[in-house]
Amino acid sequence: VGEVKNKFAGVWRLSKLGVPVHKDPGKDFLGVSEGLLEQIAKVLEFPVASMLPTEAFTVVRKSFDARKRLKEPKFVYVVEMDVNKLLSLEPRAWDFISELQPKVGLVEHMPEANKSGDLISIIHGFENVHQRTVSRESAHNMNNGSQGLYTHPTARKPKIAVVGSGPSGLFASLVLAEFGADVTLIERGQPVEQRGRDIGALVVRRMLQTESNFCFGEGGAGTWSDGKLVTRIGRNSGSVLAVMETLVHFGAPEGILVDGKPHLGTDRLIPLLRNFRQHLQNLGVTIKFGMRVDDLLVDNGQVVGVKVSDSVDRQSNTQKWGYDAVVLAVGHSARDIYQTLLSHNIDLVPKDFAVGLRIEHPQEVINSLQYSGLATEVRRGRGKVPVADYKVAKYASGKDGDEPLQATSRSCYSFCMCPGGQVVLTGTKPSEICINGMSFSRRASKWANAALVVTVSMKDFDALNLHGPLAGVEFQREFEQRAARMGGGNFVVPVQTVTDFLDNKLSVTSMPPSSYRLGVKAANLHEIFPIHITETLQNSISAFDQELPGFISKEALLHGVETRTSSPIQIPRGIDTYESTSLKGLYPVGEGAGYAGGIVSAAVDGMYAGFAVAKNFGLCNDGI
Ligand code: FAD
Repeated sequence: VGEVKNKFAGVWRLSKLGVPVHKDPGKDFLGVSEGLLEQIAKVLEFPVASMLPTEAFTVVRKSFDARKRLKEPKFVYVVEMDVNKLLSLEPRAWDFISELQPKVGLVEHMPEANKSGDLISIIHGFENVHQRTVSRESAHNMNNGSQGLYTHPTARKPKIAVVGSGPSGLFASLVLAEFGADVTLIERGQPVEQRGRDIGALVVRRMLQTESNFCFGEGGAGTWSDGKLVTRIGRNSGSVLAVMETLVHFGAPEGILVDGKPHLGTDRLIPLLRNFRQHLQNLGVTIKFGMRVDDLLVDNGQVVGVKVSDSVDRQSNTQKWGYDAVVLAVGHSARDIYQTLLSHNIDLVPKDFAVGLRIEHPQEVINSLQYSGLATEVRRGRGKVPVADYKVAKYASGKDGDEPLQATSRSCYSFCMCPGGQVVLTGTKPSEICINGMSFSRRASKWANAALVVTVSMKDFDALNLHGPLAGVEFQREFEQRAARMGGGNFVVPVQTVTDFLDNKLSVTSMPPSSYRLGVKAANLHEIFPIHITETLQNSISAFDQELPGFISKEALLHGVETRTSSPIQIPRGIDTYESTSLKGLYPVGEGAGYAGGIVSAAVDGMYAGFAVAKNFGLCNDGI
């Protein structure tokens, strides 16, 4: 019997356990409820659910499913069952466990659960980490709490500059500091406290600080955001788990590890970033806020430092700082740095991205589209079910001049949907309008917004006579400037109702309100993009309305423009080394380098870049 039991020992993962809303305590409860025990008992064919000990089960994922074809909306769980614990608390369960048959995607035996293990240990500086590479001296330092995990075997620690304190720069700094590098984190914007005041001045008094705004400053572009932590790079991979656990370590709620669609919201991101900063400083990282990297210092084909200027007093404060390597984590709004890279003959390759408009509905409309009868349960983020979101996508076709149709089919999809959020300005110059969405953790605002964007490629840039590595950047800028002109200046955004946009007309009737605080102006948004992009948007919106009847509504307002969905260029780098293929000592990372799209993927890229740089400087070995 012992042998047979051993075969079943360890963890079993039970997936797709659906609990109807009326039997679930609600979105904020992440434990094992009676309703969930009933579903577990069903899978185990265990006759009395209440006899199952809740301690033997751990919820590892909880999502809300309100798809229309379901009989009723439900919470869907993935649960891990610890067989040893279960049998020690309820030995009679053995008769049922021993009958359990694995079923792919539903019931799986996982003798070893997927854990972020070593990665999380390294980035937090915990013990039990690759002991083989830890020297006595570094262990001594670690005990003193004064240094990172490893000590460079040679006399001098490598001096590394990390440029940009977005997710990629923060995680690269964290890993490098833990490995004992001498890290300086250089950020053109301000720490979150001052950045908050600067954003306040923008929203209330229309004063844009060009170096401290929604894109630039501590935490990068994602700080004043919805803080969605969904990623397409594999939710359960060790690296994503390591990022999520690090966020929890710095103050994010543990629920993000379980929630099927985790998000933080700006109010949670700000204290989290303060803790992150404190931790880096404790590790010995020097942080320079308000300092912009204006140039790279290059000697003999190798980066040897950076030229920086003070964001406030640029004329009188320009300095040259020497480094052994530079991690470039500047995001994709730092267009000036792309010019700098070109001046050093560094390869930049244009890549496809997407442009479009941001649509905003009253949140109540989206709640009732998605939940019908359950909409009242939302209660502005305090109710049982999550504030409703949506995701729509269409492989649409539009006529591109005389080209055959199949050559011009494009994707149109919703992007960065912010339930209970607001539309914000993410341009960094008064002459350019570009928008995005943010929210607070409760997602309690009256509005729901999302970008609707259409893929664009070199062919589109060529059509506007834009060529060369920065053609995509010029393409973005063209529409941002058009939007600014149509708004009439002062950061006013041009808007059009969806119904008018579909009919290509501008009504004189009153506009629905907008969450955008700097003002909106009625305009015909057909005048912004080339006809094939506009037509693709029109066709797709009609298709989205078939999927979500009511999506086309008089209350829905389109805002122009959304252009910075992902980087318009990629900076080629070595697959394993992360080093630029055209300049030694330069490590391009994150979204601006074309290797990430979103908070989590940027953090993962920064983390791996940190490992790669550490390896290149002999701070760790191949085991990582
Ligand atoms: P960034 O976050 O852009 O960071 C780059 C940093 O480098 C900035 O702080 C900048 O000031 C600094 N910098 C630039 N140039 C220099 C220089 N020359 N010298 C010194 N410092 C410099 N993603 C999600 O996953 N979920 C969301 O909900 C979400 N919402 C968003 C909402 C908004 C309003 C915006 C703007 C973006 C949102 N994103 C979201 C996208 C996400 O923020 C980015 O994908 C992510 O921040 C990219 O990380 P990064 O580290 O590569 O670059």
